[in-house]
Amino acid sequence: INVGQITADMIEMLSKKSFPLCMQHLHQALRQNHHLRHGGRMQYGLFLKGIGLSLDEALKFWRSEFTKIMDGDKFDKQYAYNIRHNYGKEGKRADYTPYSCMKIIMSNVPGTGDYHGCPFRHMDADLLKQKLRAQNIGGEYLDKIMIDLKGNHYQLACTHYFEAVHHLSLDTHNGINHPSQYFDDSQKELNG
Ligand code: SF4
Repeated sequence: INVGQITADMIEMLSKKSFPLCMQHLHQALRQNHHLRHGGRMQYGLFLKGIGLSLDEALKFWRSEFTKIMDGDKFDKQYAYNIRHNYGKEGKRADYTPYSCMKIIMSNVPGTGDYHGCPFRHMDADLLKQKLRAQNIGGEYLDKIMIDLKGNHYQLACTHYFEAVHHLSLDTHNGINHPSQYFDDSQKELNG
């Protein structure tokens, strides 16, 4: 999937099918609160850019949520700049790339009111377990994930999560190291 092929109205459906847990978490928080703080906007915004959301569609997507709690003028003044910035249209005109798992896991620990980060690293283990159960992940998959977490193997836990979600046998996927790769691999599994 290339830039321009994903539109704002496809994100909801894609988030359920092909987003890693970190991005599902950000998406749900955005839909619930109609807002994300800076760390979340960066992590999620760059991910969406990476999977092929164009700048125009990104502005449409963020605007439609944020304007549920603020007027369009405020959104344009305070938030649109950052989105254009992520696409290299403002400031240094650098092209910002989506964060890798390592970066998400190792830097910028989320605080209260933040939804960025890696759930396998930053979420309370009991809460995470509940979340996984609610997604019908149990049995040997859940056991493996909990063992991974105890050993601080967060990306391995994400890989086992991927296998559970896509009905693959355990330890058959070659490993998740980037949220964009999770998305691509998921689309390959689903669309052949
Ligand atoms: Fe996201 Fe990577 Fe954590 Fe998986 S391991 S939830 S893709 S940051």
